[in-house]
Amino acid sequence: MKTVDITFPNGKQGTYPVGVTVREVLASQTAAASEVVVAAKVDKHLVDLSHVIEKDASVEPVYADSLEGIGILRHSTSHVMAQAVQDIFTGAQVAIGPSIEDGFYYDFEYAETFTPEDLEKIEKRMAEIIAADYPFARQDVSREEAADRFQQKGETYKVELIRDLPDDVKTVSLYTQGGYVDLCRGPHIPSTGVIKAFKLLNVAGAYWRGDERNKMLQRIYGTGFASQEALDEYLRLLEEARKRDHRRLGRELDLFQVNDEAGPGLVIFHPKGMLLRTIIEDWERKEHLKRGYDIVMGPQILKVDLWKKSGHFDHYRENMYFTEVEGQSYGIKPMNCLSHMLIYKSKIRSYRDLPLRYFELGTVHRHEKTGVLHGLLRVRQFTQDDAHILCAPEQLNSEIKAITDFVNYAMGIFGFEYEVELSTRPENSIGSDEDWDRATSALQQALKDTGIPYDINEGDGAFYGPKIDFKLKDALKRKWQCATIQCDFTLPDKFDLSYIGADGEKHRPVMLHRVILGAIERFMGVLIEHYAGAFPLWLAPVQAIVLTVTDAQIPYGEKVRKDLLEAGIRCEGDFRNEKLGFKVREAQMQKVPYMLVVGDREMAEARISPRQRDGKNLGALAIDEFITLVRDKCGRFE
Ligand SMILES: [Zn+2]
Ligand SMILES: [Zn+2]
Repeated sequence: MKTVDITFPNGKQGTYPVGVTVREVLASQTAAASEVVVAAKVDKHLVDLSHVIEKDASVEPVYADSLEGIGILRHSTSHVMAQAVQDIFTGAQVAIGPSIEDGFYYDFEYAETFTPEDLEKIEKRMAEIIAADYPFARQDVSREEAADRFQQKGETYKVELIRDLPDDVKTVSLYTQGGYVDLCRGPHIPSTGVIKAFKLLNVAGAYWRGDERNKMLQRIYGTGFASQEALDEYLRLLEEARKRDHRRLGRELDLFQVNDEAGPGLVIFHPKGMLLRTIIEDWERKEHLKRGYDIVMGPQILKVDLWKKSGHFDHYRENMYFTEVEGQSYGIKPMNCLSHMLIYKSKIRSYRDLPLRYFELGTVHRHEKTGVLHGLLRVRQFTQDDAHILCAPEQLNSEIKAITDFVNYAMGIFGFEYEVELSTRPENSIGSDEDWDRATSALQQALKDTGIPYDINEGDGAFYGPKIDFKLKDALKRKWQCATIQCDFTLPDKFDLSYIGADGEKHRPVMLHRVILGAIERFMGVLIEHYAGAFPLWLAPVQAIVLTVTDAQIPYGEKVRKDLLEAGIRCEGDFRNEKLGFKVREAQMQKVPYMLVVGDREMAEARISPRQRDGKNLGALAIDEFITLVRDKCGRFE
């Protein structure tokens, strides 16, 4: 009998007859029995458990709750959904059905629009298919035969997919479960019964092959998990994210609007949104001055020749806007670097002047496609907390360390956890090996010195230098890019920057681009969702609201408000002739940290009765006592 030698991930080996299936091989390894195996890797290639082994190979189980396993599970669920749709809706044609980051979809052509009730029907039918535990059976056939079979069934999208395969593809694989046949590379779960937890989410329009000249299909999105608990947790987070959507809260809390009349991707800040933004910007200015930065500001448009000199015109033109003044072309800045270069160059610099740290709340414009614009998160005009640091090579380490300390401090102040990634030299890059080594080790050493754990992204740096990216984690465990530190070897060269060293010779300074919060607009969007609009006291645009019980307290209520405003507390008053309970509810909806109730007793005693937005009453306080309380709570931040 001929045999094959199989190697397992733990280094063990075994001998099996030729023609053994992956399932049989894995079954002989009892250690894996407790977890659900959905597929396997043979010599690193993903295959079905029914895959037959003909030669020596390494075999590795793929578990349902692994990244690859969950993708196979979700994709297989899309086949089950396609079967259910065709069982219910006669004439529905299938297009493609991949797994995606958080689930799967399948595109259908069908005369009528699928409704939420239809999704329920489809889910019900899917549950029956799953209960029947149909095996996923693979069959390899010639492409002609496959095309014929789908042609007969009127599945024109599948026929087109087969027709467009490269010429050297002679056979394709078909997968059948419970009478439903699909064209697919696989692999799949062994049988439909492996699916334990799934949910259909919504329907959206999608052009065939993503091309708007093609027919619009209906895309049904769904998701699946290895366990019901994991699915429930995902659905809970999804609902929570919907409630926290910053576009919805932006409207409800009257923070901002994005108006088509003004233009897509252009944010209009309302008074409360602008107040929130101003608090953040004031914090930025104060913290940068504390850390030895100089605040600067460049113009919004700069001559095109300057953008040619910097390389932006060659490499970044597609994302830029241009304008003309008196026959001269100008580029509207997509980045803030250039003015800072010109400030450096305005004088002869000595090593004693370094490091120079130029900080700008720099408003930039970048052309983003309409389709990717999203509330405050993806916009066409935004303001970065941008700085450029010019230093001597030997200062690089301490400068980077100071920035990572700054980021760490900022994340703590705004209430975020974060992760760090170091990205190293990509294949197509400029600069000498020496420059890259020095900069990369400076970045790495700074991370080691501060003791922050980090991942390395090999080859993911910018073409002009390595970088550190900070990703903050919000209350829903979502990650958002915020701070970056980038080394740049090209701009100091292109602008011929120099300083006179202690040796009396000219030297080239090293340059860092860095942001701490990133784009203020985007950071605000993340902040709104992270806190679900209930900002901490120091950030809340309205910190307190005076609520009168009857009209008799209006003059006293106005005095309270005036005293608080003078003390620097952001305070509003609701003096309307409405019931107190109604005013409290409204203030709670607006997520105001303190509601200050003033009735006859408070007025007689010159006091206020603060009530927190969580419902807790603080009892009657003198106005001064309340001012001290607010100052104590905000002191650490302001
Ligand atoms: Zn498939
Ligand atoms: Zn820059």
